Amino acid sequence: MSEADRTIEACNSVCPFCGVGCRLSYVERTGGSTGAPGPINADGEICPKGAAAFDMVTHEDRLTRPLIRTDDGPVPVSWAEALDRIAARVGEIVAEHGPDAVGFFASSNCTNEENYSLQKLARILGTNNIDNCARLCHSSTVAAMQDRLGAGAMTNTLDDLGEADTFLVTGANPAEQHPVAFRSYLLPAIRDGTTLIHVDPRANDTTEAADIHLPVRPGHDIPLLNAMAAVLLEEGLVDESFLDRRTEGVEAFEASIADVDVAERAALAGVDEDDLRAAAVAYGEADRAAAFTGMGMSQHRCGTDNVHALLNLALLTGNIGRRGTGVNPLRGQNNVQGASDVGTLPSVLPGYRDVGDRAARAALAEEWGIEPPADPGLTEVEMTHAFGDEVRAAIVLGENPAATEPDGNSVAERFEELEFLVVIDLFGTETTQYADVLLPGSAWAEKDGTVTNTDRQVLRMRRMTDPPGRARRDLDIVAGLGERLTGQPFDSDPAAVFEELTRVSPIYAGMSYDGIDDSEAQGASGSRTQSGDGGQRWPFPADADSGTGVLHRERFANGDRTAPLVPVDHVPPADDPDNDELVLTTGRIITHFNSGELTRRSETLTRMASEDALQIHPDDAAERGIHDSDSVRVASDQGAVTAPADVTPAVRRGTVFLTFHFADSPVNRVTADALDPTAKIPEYKHTPVTVDPQ
Ligand code: SF4
Repeated sequence: MSEADRTIEACNSVCPFCGVGCRLSYVERTGGSTGAPGPINADGEICPKGAAAFDMVTHEDRLTRPLIRTDDGPVPVSWAEALDRIAARVGEIVAEHGPDAVGFFASSNCTNEENYSLQKLARILGTNNIDNCARLCHSSTVAAMQDRLGAGAMTNTLDDLGEADTFLVTGANPAEQHPVAFRSYLLPAIRDGTTLIHVDPRANDTTEAADIHLPVRPGHDIPLLNAMAAVLLEEGLVDESFLDRRTEGVEAFEASIADVDVAERAALAGVDEDDLRAAAVAYGEADRAAAFTGMGMSQHRCGTDNVHALLNLALLTGNIGRRGTGVNPLRGQNNVQGASDVGTLPSVLPGYRDVGDRAARAALAEEWGIEPPADPGLTEVEMTHAFGDEVRAAIVLGENPAATEPDGNSVAERFEELEFLVVIDLFGTETTQYADVLLPGSAWAEKDGTVTNTDRQVLRMRRMTDPPGRARRDLDIVAGLGERLTGQPFDSDPAAVFEELTRVSPIYAGMSYDGIDDSEAQGASGSRTQSGDGGQRWPFPADADSGTGVLHRERFANGDRTAPLVPVDHVPPADDPDNDELVLTTGRIITHFNSGELTRRSETLTRMASEDALQIHPDDAAERGIHDSDSVRVASDQGAVTAPADVTPAVRRGTVFLTFHFADSPVNRVTADALDPTAKIPEYKHTPVTVDPQ
């Protein structure tokens, strides 16, 4: 379909960017998006990214025809030729090396139905080598929370969290990264008197609303959190009744904290001892205290332990299983929660059932006709490491691992090693340049289906227009690939795929596609909704009337009445900085998203921020002869980038900050790939670097 023939219908859908899940609609007069009252954004609030969400849909750079790589470069081909090529090459590789020679990269930006179908394809083919980019942002949070509580998602809902007396926000910057959640749910509570403690090496927009800022040294969250636990014990601010009824391992935990010297741990963490004590008291004295966590905590080689240390605070003080409490990871992409829920992870099946669970595999075999393999597959970074060796072919759905994985120079070499690469995407990216077959997929406004937001609500996306040219809906593409690669039938109707998902995933069992959130009715009512109203929230058991808001009320999600307190020791970062080095940490800004492939195609967002800037403390800049706006070179053992300097006291001394949004300064050429041993998440948040004027 030509661009001129495309018409856009003004129905409601879900913002394609962060995990808050704001409802958007189309405005014909402006050709852009506007907020529409929805389950999360009750008054139709959106942020600058949401307002620019159509810019990528109609962008002239959209891929519109399948392309096959030849010696003369990529050439357009028919869909039949492209799919035949994929079936033939993947078939040859599977025949020669087995199904584990193929790796699948799912997408946190695609729907539940697309992701479910992709993991079904991988598993019917015979491999658990499927992962999504939750591996790179939140896998350590999921690992710790799943292990201790039986569920790796937000314990509470945005709605009830406003009842907290204290917010503890560690390693997250919701004012910029989850703006509508911050403005609509956290800020009103803060203005009403809720104390905000912000733990972050940088002062940013969230810090502006904070009562206490703890500018933690990157990689030193455990000393800080253990010291807070010591203060809670010292001051008698633990909930003895909760400890008796709902926890175990109290004595061993208290013994592990007995030797903690608060002053020494505060110094190690790089924060003021009095501030740390005040934070612990504010958290411990609150009737309801809610913790929020983000990639500042999770993206370390001790990311799982970091979250264990945070969970200890919640359990010690009885801040779990009640409104206004809990531990709440804020999700960064619009379906990063759902992509994992539906099984695009190498060790779990849909609904987080272990691949080793015989009954779970048998249930899938009944639905699919073929039992999935029992051994866990490789994670995303492990797959990339194995390119050209164990892994000979890869199929990438709407992700850009060549830009988003750490140690980018090595990643680029590994992509060269692949025998065969298929990429489904909207635009040319760092990853598509290695594709043997490049398939033009669909943008958010071109698809029906569901996504699951940060507080576990499944929301309906609605198609407003068709993909441009010969581009196809992603679900059609995955279903077509599935049928050709496995010989099994694959449904391409989102409603039918979702209903299949409810049959195989107990946490979605009570949901129905038609029952999720009637967009028009919800928009008309405009009221902020409770759990299960509007979207449907998991867990939603088959025999329940609605989903579950606050988790772990009487029992934890794993069925246990008690959860363990877990002693956690400080794990130093993989690489200590030398005397002349600073520590690079990375993150996001309000105007851009992930590797920037979508948001850098918006003129509005690019006008607001067109290039990266290295935040550096004035003292560190002066020592290096760096002035504001000077071009600087940031170099690590892995590689180097250049960026203008932003000399600012907002970042702590010894730390520098870059985003990961800009192709001109691809920060992951610099970051290292030390992995958390449990979650296999890379240590993006701590890389020793030299910084010099250009
Ligand atoms: Fe989209 Fe998130 Fe902004 Fe809402 S807060 S408009 S979901 S980017």
